[in-house]
Amino acid sequence: MSAIADKLQAVRQRIIAAARAAGRAPESVRLLAVSKTKPLAAIEAAIRAGQTDFAENYVQEGVEKCLALKSNGILTWHFIGPLQSNKTRLVAEHFSWVHSVDRLRLAQRLSEQRPEQCAPLNVCVQVNISDEKSKSGCAPAEACALCQAIAALPGLRLRGLMAIPAPTADVAAQRAAFRSLRQLAQSISQHASLPLDTLSMGMSDDLEAAIAEGATMVRVGSAIFGERNYA
Ligand SMILES: *Cc1c(COP(=O)(O)O)cnc(C)c1O
Repeated sequence: MSAIADKLQAVRQRIIAAARAAGRAPESVRLLAVSKTKPLAAIEAAIRAGQTDFAENYVQEGVEKCLALKSNGILTWHFIGPLQSNKTRLVAEHFSWVHSVDRLRLAQRLSEQRPEQCAPLNVCVQVNISDEKSKSGCAPAEACALCQAIAALPGLRLRGLMAIPAPTADVAAQRAAFRSLRQLAQSISQHASLPLDTLSMGMSDDLEAAIAEGATMVRVGSAIFGERNYA
């Protein structure tokens, strides 16, 4: 077994343990392997170990990987990074999910640019839940209106909310941030009657807390592929 297969297996075990501890079915949590900065060989090792959902942060790098692995028809690609309005077309054409929609202009462009022969692009609204200094994510108070606008766009399918809380080793603080995203999603579902089925939250260091608070997708990079090298 490759090192990546071993690490992937360890992450799957963490997900199963966290789901069981929360009284949830382990299958209710989908694992996205965050492969940004990692070579194709690393992704291929994860594919051989059964991984099918991959997430990328940078448009050019992500599209190159989608295209290089296209013959492998079973993969699902998720875009999770900050997105500039002038780069939406490639994302609309090559990805199945975008987790980082935080303003209407971006959603409108993705909807217009989604090719007709493709299923609607699955979208999560990114919410700036705890880190006020971060530029990504809409304010919690803006999330409901943005969700309503996205739900009306024909090229998109609104799925839920995503957040990257400020990093902390304090599990109670991790849980509080994830809980506030879950509660926001619940209130949007009720007040706007929108069928949100996705909470994209939890990474290598805090996936247990996220699963305890209801995460349906965890985005895990370094625990599967090792530390990233930005050189
Ligand atoms: C890089 C990244 C991750 C993965 O982070 P790890 O700590 O390596 O698991 C998850 N989500 C987003 C949005 C990221 O940019």
